Amino acid sequence: MYQPQAKSISFSPQQRTLMGPGPSDVDPRILQALARQTIGHLDPLFIELMDQVKQQLQYAFQTTNALTMPISAPGSAGMEACFVNLVEPGDKIIVCQNGVFGGRMKENVVRCGGNAILIEDSWGTQTDLSKVEDALQRHPDAKALAFVHAETSTGVRNDAKALCELAKAHDCLTVVDAVTSLGGIELRVDEWQIDAIYSGTQKCLSCIPGLSPVSFSEQAIKAIKERNTPVQSWFLDMDLVMGYWGQGGKRAYHHTAPVNSVYALHEALLILQQEGLEQAWQRHAENHQLLKHGLESLGLEFVVEEQCRLPQLNMVRIPDGVNDAEVRSKLLNEFDLEIGAGLGELAGKVWRIGLMGYGSNQKNVDYCLSCLKAVI
Ligand SMILES: *Cc1c(COP(=O)(O)O)cnc(C)c1O
Repeated sequence: MYQPQAKSISFSPQQRTLMGPGPSDVDPRILQALARQTIGHLDPLFIELMDQVKQQLQYAFQTTNALTMPISAPGSAGMEACFVNLVEPGDKIIVCQNGVFGGRMKENVVRCGGNAILIEDSWGTQTDLSKVEDALQRHPDAKALAFVHAETSTGVRNDAKALCELAKAHDCLTVVDAVTSLGGIELRVDEWQIDAIYSGTQKCLSCIPGLSPVSFSEQAIKAIKERNTPVQSWFLDMDLVMGYWGQGGKRAYHHTAPVNSVYALHEALLILQQEGLEQAWQRHAENHQLLKHGLESLGLEFVVEEQCRLPQLNMVRIPDGVNDAEVRSKLLNEFDLEIGAGLGELAGKVWRIGLMGYGSNQKNVDYCLSCLKAVI
């Protein structure tokens, strides 16, 4: 008989402080919700919970979209759900890239057989609205404009409201990555006319990783219904998913929802509702200011211009002569503090310090500053 090679003890990690690009510190209330008894995914109690989660997400996204729900998989699956449903072979999609995640959007478009028109801006700067305007004029047949609201790889906030306005003036659908923005900065799906949006649970919602809230407008649903070809992905076909997450009663089995993860998301959204969405945005802004002052007094400089900085993701230049990997491993091993490394062209040059959701508090700000002071 094949004997187990793994150690025969339960896994119990030590307490860390998560101040990287996600996952963020999970509120203990959410961990408690996660540990409650699993019930059947077609149990009327669970169906009622699903309806509540949909309403909570409508509040978080500021939308009345009926098609608002969590996809049972991480943020990248929400991204994929938007593209596989909206993009058919030959469709032209304008994609803005100023970091890692814009590049992933483009990859999705290409894999759906779409024609991606890429608008590039350097990492650490905002997407240039005039380039987008120009592309929309040069490509009147473009079906959608896709961009990342909060680019976690650089700490840049793209101007979602203005980008959507431009797209709508050219009769384009809008596809928005809100994985890091939801719950952290102002986001108004209906008012800004966002047609397809996806987020993640492990950033500013401070929930466990593994679910991706999405929302589709009436116009997006119309585009999906008018497709000439079936959606290539069975699991992410919104027509089928809708039958499972549709309102109340007659629910068709599609897949087994991650029941306990949905409990956790419900608790996370309840916490957001109890604090108030605008209050949560305000708290992220205030703790960012505290961290900013502290980092600057340690001599650390921000890379991103002040007017488009994300309060929940602070990217600072690593001072000359300081060893990136050594500092981060000391922080983790001696202080149980995780901060993020630079990605792509910024690798080794920057740190990314997250102040997301539950983790956006003065205690974490103070802790991070004192640890950095000790280590640098
Ligand atoms: C984290 C992140 C994703 C991917 O989410 P996963 O849950 O890791 O799949 C996508 N976009 C942005 C902006 C992110 O920060």
